Amino acid sequence: MNKNTKKIAVIGSGPMGLVCAYELLKKHYQVDVYEKDDRLGGMSACFDFDGLTIERYYHFICRTDTPLFNLLNELNIADKLHWRDTKMGFFYNGVLYKWGDPIHLLKFPKLGFISKLRYALHVFYTKNINNWENLDKQSASVWLKKWIGKKAYDKLWDYLFELKFYEHKDNISAAWIGTRIKRVALSRKNLFTETLGYLEGGSDTLLCALEEKILAMNGTIHFSAGIERLVTEKNQVQGVIVKGEKRAYDGVISTMPLPYVPRIAPNLPEEIINKIKSINNCGVVCVILKLRSPLTENFWLNVNDPDMEIPGLIEYTNLYAMPKSIVYIPFYMPHTHPKYTLDDSSFINEVFDYLHRINSAFTKEWVLAAQVSRYEFAQPICTPNFFEQLPPMQTPIQGFVMADTSYYYPEDRSISESVKVGKTLADLMA
Ligand SMILES: Cc1cc2nc3c(=O)[nH]c(=O)nc-3n(C[C@H](O)[C@H](O)[C@H](O)COP(=O)(O)OP(=O)(O)OC[C@H]3O[C@@H](n4cnc5c(N)ncnc54)[C@H](O)[C@@H]3O)c2cc1C
Repeated sequence: MNKNTKKIAVIGSGPMGLVCAYELLKKHYQVDVYEKDDRLGGMSACFDFDGLTIERYYHFICRTDTPLFNLLNELNIADKLHWRDTKMGFFYNGVLYKWGDPIHLLKFPKLGFISKLRYALHVFYTKNINNWENLDKQSASVWLKKWIGKKAYDKLWDYLFELKFYEHKDNISAAWIGTRIKRVALSRKNLFTETLGYLEGGSDTLLCALEEKILAMNGTIHFSAGIERLVTEKNQVQGVIVKGEKRAYDGVISTMPLPYVPRIAPNLPEEIINKIKSINNCGVVCVILKLRSPLTENFWLNVNDPDMEIPGLIEYTNLYAMPKSIVYIPFYMPHTHPKYTLDDSSFINEVFDYLHRINSAFTKEWVLAAQVSRYEFAQPICTPNFFEQLPPMQTPIQGFVMADTSYYYPEDRSISESVKVGKTLADLMA
């Protein structure tokens, strides 16, 4: 074997870090992965939920997730990918409506016919966009209002943006929202049926297959081993500090959330640090419940109700069938928001009230288990001109490259995009 003597440290064992390590090992580098957490996966990590191994946050797969499909094939686990026709709902001002196809759009009583037509035309138009440069320069709220009108925007989008982006709600890139609409629109079997995918065994199936390959190729993965500092000399990477000790490396690749980078690499040029600091993120506090009975028939339920501080909820078992119903209820907010630090029971109690509004039969007795997970930087806030805002992956420090979910732009975060960017990082290092 053509052994490369270069040693590379990869920071983070989310899908991006693992793919990056795997790709570097294929190029015969020596690779060590460092993970701050006690397990693989980052945002895709699983946990033991009352005897069930499941992700901390919900994950679905779309028909356009080609980089993921290619990797599943390469790892010989493509047979673990399954598709299911799913239903969508819309809980609007206290009433649960069916949603997500032309018939239910026409039946929705809160919008006029012209607004509905404009809404449908907008989805059709967006589905066919391939070049996002123009939309990168526009604000999503302006673009959406232009297409569907202010009334429809207020009913369908405004509160959703507020609950996800707070003070940034009118400063979101139109390209970012456009790719989201396109991804889901292209994941339909036909006009009337949405089809989404999941991995048997959850994201762990992919993460563990990557771990197995990395270890088989003599890579290492260190858990509970957060990188404290990058060691450089004359603007060249020399290694990292971990657990207070220096370890020598020829190159370091960071896949941890970008806001953490200035802490480990304070000697990056001011221009790069400022760019990193200019990107805002929202955090997530996600409640997961195991219920005795299903709450609704929907996988995805959009919520627009002035008394509920959630943009939606995800009844995962309506995608991936399991004996008991699993529901994720995400609260998005900046991690600096006072609500972010409330204790778990506050979120769980708030959610009980919401579930009872959605299904009046629901009582606390339905709940077999409850858990809350938090991620400080769960979603970059992609503002107009985001392409310009992103610092280069190849930093001015020789041998130090970085990326996180912001670099999927204009795409939204997804494991498939992590796979794509993980490969790009490995190529850059090589
Ligand atoms: C609520 C939610 C819902 C989602 N839904 C979907 C979905 O439906 N479909 C889909 O495809 N994707 C979904 N995603 C996105 C998907 O989970 C991410 O795109 C993917 O996990 C990102 O992987 P990553 O490796 O880029 O980053 P991360 O997962 O953020 O991994 C970064 C890793 O770096 C580690 N780290 C941080 N600091 C250090 C340090 N100093 N030293 C060492 N390690 C460090 C972290 O612990 C973490 O493990 C969702 C994410 C969230 C939060």
